[in-house]
Amino acid sequence: MTVFKKIIDGEIPCNKIYEDEYILAFHDINPHAKVHAVVIPKPTHLKRIQDAQLKDVELLGHLMCKIPEIAKILGIDKDGYRIITNNGDHAGQEVPHIHFHILGGEPLGKLRG
Ligand code: AMP
Repeated sequence: MTVFKKIIDGEIPCNKIYEDEYILAFHDINPHAKVHAVVIPKPTHLKRIQDAQLKDVELLGHLMCKIPEIAKILGIDKDGYRIITNNGDHAGQEVPHIHFHILGGEPLGKLRG
């Protein structure tokens, strides 16, 4: 069981930002920017983006469409923010439960590929 599943189940506390039937957003415990949130789907079957199938469109679409609302709650919607998914080992993904980082609250510098 991942740490995110434990957070969903309430076994580990989190600093919650937003929750609904499908998703949960909370502050990252080890922030990499002034504002750093993590958004996760509540179902646990998607470890990585390549696990996503057409049946997951509604879930992932819901998550994506809720990010602006979460950013507004965080007060970073006007100045902008970065959304990141670490996907797999080379990206440094630690938690095998698909998730999206929201980073902002300060200028982040240009991302170079
Ligand atoms: P990733 O490296 O993309 O898998 O991201 C996992 C993120 O989860 C990291 O940024 C961690 O700091 C964060 N994290 C791990 N445990 C917790 C926790 N208990 N509460 C909040 N964030 C956590």
